Amino acid sequence: MTDQNRRDFFRYAVATGASLAAGSASAQLGTNGLMPRVQPAAYKRIATEEAWGTVEIFREWKRVLDSNPPDEPGFVALWRNLDPLGSTGFAPRLADLGRTRLDAMDAAGIDMQILALTAPGVQVFDADTGTALAADSNDQLAEACRNHPTRYAGMAAVAPQDPQRAAREVERAIGSLGLKAVIINSHTKGEYLSDQKFWGILEAAEAHNAPIYIHPRAPSPGMVQPFVDHDMHRGDLGFGVEVAFHTQAMIYAGVFDQFPDLKLVIGHGGEGIPYNLYRIDRTHPVRRPDDRSQELPSYYMRRNIFVTNSGVAWAPMVMFAQEVLGVDRVLYAMDYPYQYDIEEVHAMDALPISFEDKKKFFQTNAERVFNL
Ligand code: CA
Repeated sequence: MTDQNRRDFFRYAVATGASLAAGSASAQLGTNGLMPRVQPAAYKRIATEEAWGTVEIFREWKRVLDSNPPDEPGFVALWRNLDPLGSTGFAPRLADLGRTRLDAMDAAGIDMQILALTAPGVQVFDADTGTALAADSNDQLAEACRNHPTRYAGMAAVAPQDPQRAAREVERAIGSLGLKAVIINSHTKGEYLSDQKFWGILEAAEAHNAPIYIHPRAPSPGMVQPFVDHDMHRGDLGFGVEVAFHTQAMIYAGVFDQFPDLKLVIGHGGEGIPYNLYRIDRTHPVRRPDDRSQELPSYYMRRNIFVTNSGVAWAPMVMFAQEVLGVDRVLYAMDYPYQYDIEEVHAMDALPISFEDKKKFFQTNAERVFNL
């Protein structure tokens, strides 16, 4: 493909995103004979961190935001100027599990999306509301997966605010509804999965061989204020700090010693952890004495943890993560609809790695990790 063609693709992607945001582009997509498409590859492109959400949850978000809760400063900072019920922006694309989404996937050459309830999901609600809306969203997502079994797979949402009921929802959503993983939108009211009160959720996930995917949100209440003051609570820094903290706290708490077969997936190239892994290992012996992990952090990063390239269609990052963690541990993701960019699919198709490793990246690692 020529550089001019690449630029044309990029312009189409931008235009498509803009008009999709207005909720009016479904007729253009797929029916416009001029619309370029990413051609099929000799591997399936499975995108593993793709966002969706229910209107019912967005409605409840609005109610929470309007109450300006003091225990959710990051949520308020991130969403106070966005209308989660608005007819423009991301809301219509998040709520759609039909033609608009499928057409966007077709145009970008995406064979399958693995869908997760967008952050912060139900984790900003009281326990009863969160538990009920998680179950409802899982029912809706499972139905979409049944209707489009070759195009969608889903992650189950749970409300860790009630760990016992959340563990039962894992059983139901994975065991009965056929969802493939559990989405945790990082901290729950400032608490992390390193806390043993949540370990029933991890036990249920491990028993079903279902990975836990930790997706970012703004940092927890105890650390978010300087990020908000400097407007750094988003994807440029805050999201990554939040998930890297969450992941390392789980390692140090002995989660992966207690649950040796538990699979954890984190996005955005591993939220900086692969890049910092030498130093994380090196400083590990000076940790506090109640550290429960038996091995160095890199041991768990290479045994229990997988990373996706959501939001980071950048060859140096993908290849560095493959080198540090292994080619079996790095998975493709697009981050639809937040980062719908056809040019990025071409960039990843063009990774200067072997066909076998590229097929692992786009397809077979996802099939194995998510039991597709
Ligand atoms: Ca995302």
